[in-house]
Parts: sequence; C-alpha cells; structure tokens
Amino acid sequence: MNNTVPTPTDFIREMIREDIRSSRYGGRVHTRFPPEPNGYLHIGHAKSIVLNFSIAEEFGGLCNLRFDDTNPTKEEARYVEAIKEDVRWLGFDWQERLYFASDYFEQMYQYAIELIKKGKAYVCDLSPEEIRRYRGTLTEPGRESPYRNRSVQENLELFERMRAGEFPDGSRTLRAKIDMRSGNINMRDPVMYRIIRAEHHRTGKKWCIYPTYDFAHPISDAIEGITHSLCTLEFEDHRPLYDWFLRELGLHHPRQIEFARLNISHTVLSKRKLKELVDGGYVSGWDDPRMPTIAGMRRRGYTPKAIRDFCRRIGVSKRDNLVDVSLLEYYIRTDLNKTAMRVMGVLRPLRVVIVNYPEDRVEEMDAINNPEDPSMGTRKVPFSRELYIERDDFREEPPEKFYRLAPGREVRLRYAYFIRCVDYVKDDDGNIVEVHCTYDPETRGGNAPDGRKVKATLHWVSARHAIKAEARLYDHLFLTPDPEASEDFKDFINPHSLIVLDSCMVEPSLKDARPGDRYQFERLGYFCVDKDSTPERPVFNRIVTLRDTWAKIEKSQKKG
Ligand code: ATP
Ligand code: MG
Repeated sequence: MNNTVPTPTDFIREMIREDIRSSRYGGRVHTRFPPEPNGYLHIGHAKSIVLNFSIAEEFGGLCNLRFDDTNPTKEEARYVEAIKEDVRWLGFDWQERLYFASDYFEQMYQYAIELIKKGKAYVCDLSPEEIRRYRGTLTEPGRESPYRNRSVQENLELFERMRAGEFPDGSRTLRAKIDMRSGNINMRDPVMYRIIRAEHHRTGKKWCIYPTYDFAHPISDAIEGITHSLCTLEFEDHRPLYDWFLRELGLHHPRQIEFARLNISHTVLSKRKLKELVDGGYVSGWDDPRMPTIAGMRRRGYTPKAIRDFCRRIGVSKRDNLVDVSLLEYYIRTDLNKTAMRVMGVLRPLRVVIVNYPEDRVEEMDAINNPEDPSMGTRKVPFSRELYIERDDFREEPPEKFYRLAPGREVRLRYAYFIRCVDYVKDDDGNIVEVHCTYDPETRGGNAPDGRKVKATLHWVSARHAIKAEARLYDHLFLTPDPEASEDFKDFINPHSLIVLDSCMVEPSLKDARPGDRYQFERLGYFCVDKDSTPERPVFNRIVTLRDTWAKIEKSQKKG
C-alpha cells in the first residue's frame, strides 16, 4: 500500500513479534475490526482500522471485518452499508471475511448452556435497577443475588423459556457466576443475556434474548480464530472477563491488547455525541463536511492516504491524549500539494477594468497545473479587459506591509501582466465596486524586461469567461480544543463553522469538474467539488487552507 509514513514500532507490534517468536499461535497473526453498526465511523475508528489491517499486512496475516451487532435497539442495516463503504474507501480489503456477531447467536446460546451445565451461569430475576444496587462499588463488595444458587436444571429450563419469549423484557437475565466480592466490578456476576423484544436488522424476530458485548466478543474472536484482539483502553478492566469466558469454555484464546483511543482537538469522537449533532440538526447529516466522520471527511475532500498517514504517524500508546487537528490537516496538505491541480478562483469578487486593453481582445495565457509535478502539464486561461480579483487584494488606503493593489501601485497578475491602479469607483454607500488599471504589454507572462519588481502576485479570472460558483468555507465545529471535557459538549458549538459564499467566480477550465474532484485554488486553499454541485451551479468545499499552522508549530518547538 502507498504510505509515506514508515511502518511504526510500538508495544503492540512488539508483543506480536514476541508471540511469533514463541510460536504462540503457530506464528499466525489474525486481527479484526469490530464496529457496532449504530452510527457512522469516525477518525477514531480509522485509527483502529489502520492499526488492525496494517498489522495483518505487515505480518503476513489476515484481518476480518466483523459487525458487533448484538444490540438491535440501536443498530441499523444502513449503518452496516456505510461502514463497509468507509473501510473500503480508506483502502482496506477484508476479502471474503465479512462477519456478523449475529451469525453466531445460535452458537453463543449453546455456549451459554454449557456454562449453565458447568454451574458457571444462572438465570437471575433481579431487575436492572436491583442488579445495579447489588453490584456494590469500587470500595464496597457486591451482594449475591438471591437467585444465584438455582439448580442447573432450573436454570436450563428458565433460560430456554427466556429464549421462547415467555417472560417480559427486562424481567430476567442470564448471568455468569464468578465472584461478587471481586475487586474488579466486571467480574461481579456480569450479565450475559438480556430479554429485548426488538427486531434485529439481520435476524429479524428470531431472537428475543441478546448476548452482551462482554459475552459475545470473546466468543466471536474465538470462532474466527483471531490471534490478537486489539481494542481501546476502556476494555482493559474487561480483559479478565474476556479471559474467563474463553478459559471456562475451553475455546481458542486470542490475546486482548488495549491501546489509547484517539481524541482530536475541536471535535467530539463518540457515535452517540455525533448522532446528537445529526438528530439535533446542528449539522446537515453524518456526512456534513464539518463532521469528523469518514463520510464527512470524504465529502470535505480529505484523501484516504492522508488519513492513513496521519493514523500511522500518531501511532499507538497506553495513555490518552488529545491530538491537534492541525496534524491531520498537515497530512492533507502534504498529499494534495503533489496531486491537486492548481486553478484560479475568486471567492469575493471585485471588478477590475484594464482601461488600455482592447475591448474585444482575448488572450490565452499558459498556466502550470502543478509546479510540484511537471507531468500534470499546462492549460490555457483566458485574459480579457474585464477581470475579477479578490476584494481583499485591493485597499484604498493600504496599511503598512500591505503590498497588494492600491491606488498608483503596480502588481503582477499570475501568468498574465503587470497592472497598475489608476482609478477606482465607489457606490453611494462608499463601497468600492470597480478598480481601473492599466496593463504593461511588455510584461506578458509576468516579468518586466527592464527588471523592475512588484511585491505581490494576485490571482484573477476573466469576467466574461468566469463560472459563477458557491464556496463553503469550514471552521472547527467546536470553539474549545476539548469539548468532551465539558458538561454539555453542545455548549461550545462554533456558530461560524460554515460560511457560504454564493457569488464566487472560477476559471472556465472548471466547467468539467465532477463531485469529488480536488483542486488548489491559488492562494486560497484546497477545494473539493461537493455532491450538491451541478454544471449550472458548481459547489466547492474548502478542504483546508494553505496556511500550515502545524509546520509553524513544529518549527517553533524545534527552536524552543
Ligand atoms: P463510539 O464511542 O464512537 O461509539 P465505540 O468504541 O463504541 O465508539 P465501536 O463501533 O464499538 O465504537 O468501535 C469499533 C472499534 O473501533 C473498537 O475496537 C473500538 O475500540 C475502536 N474505536 C472506537 N473509537 C475509537 C477511537 N476514538 N480511537 C481508536 N479506536 C477507536
Ligand atoms: Mg461500542
């Protein structure tokens, strides 16, 4: 696979190497990515996807895609499809190994019966609220359920009747019989099955009892012959339970290894919170270009390679931290700098009339498509008497260090001529509506034969050739770096995270731009054609600006 960032070394790969040396799994490496289909994938999941699939690739192993679909009340088939599309788009291939925990429901049920027969599981009639009260706390041991010592026979019968739908939702559970005094709360007789009458997106109404994550996950891993079950740190305290189920059932026993979740500044990474943003109408959907979802990033114009490079670069560790979103943007720029075609577009147009340029003349100027990659060639850009430049590029009274256009000042138009401002026109409100310039015919191509210099080069478009377009400029969804740390993350939503500019003017070569195409608009940033775009009305999402704050941060860190 095409990756710029070299293969990382970390504690997980070290452990796997050790297992290969000691032939723990006969030298095999088999990982899995186990999403729950209860929402769209986000950049945190990308970290897990890149980790699991890359490790399999590096060690000549395999990686499965397995849907952890054990909670029918929250899961939907459309999420399954979206997740598959995202994993594929990121560049990974599970080949024929697409699995669903729900495919193992019957087998899990049989394993549950096995545990009942061993006296290691029992049917409990406590309500969810009572179970919680009996469980104790970190400092107090739990109390045993009055139903804990039912006979194997009674448990078998009750469990079968649970499956048969004889009891109301929530009235009974199947629990593992472990240790109510354990220092680890997860080991205090955890629930294995609950009664939920909900239609499952794959098994329909076949089941009214569903296994919990803690019971379903180790069994799914075992059935698939997984060797290394990589998960995030919150499951560290569940590992003894993972191991307990596999030991008691005598199944193939993968090694669970935990790593820190990815957190990114100025956003939230939790499907539940992202769903709140979607359902509350704070964003236009799961694929809103401001969302940290894979679908949102794809629509925004991020590239799979940049996301992979970012995930490899941040690596894995055992400690939670907050990664600055500018590091991700750095990888986007690095990728697009080499691959995106450079074009000219004006976001906030100001009309310029070249008063000494013939009215009917049109010249085709040669423009370079990407100076980083000469094989991308050149194109023609039409030049004529009336142009648009960026409103910000003209000042009636230029402040210090403003080198762009101003009365009497000469600047270069990219790929065209030197122009000098000779006059400007204001409307009744005092807004500048038009700038008059002269051009120097000797400077065609952008250089003066007499060697005189100008301090600024402006982008422009020919007014009568330009295509009117919409641009959507994005900023962080949240004003604070760590919105998850606050009580209600929604308090910090950035009211200006989207700015729509509906009268942009772009060069005519963009008439053939298709949704998903990416460009660098010179001096303005990288843009991607949105799915809302039509030939009559192109819509461009700004992927990222050109300013590279990360490079600056790194530079100042090195200095400091
Ligand atoms: P969320 O809290 O967003 O709902 P989740 O962990 O419940 O996330 P799952 O679909 O269960 O979502 O996750 C699938 C896999 O992705 C799991 O192995 C999980 O550990 C991993 N994962 C989820 N979020 C992150 C993250 N922020 N960083 C790294 N890995 C993650
Ligand atoms: Mg989960």
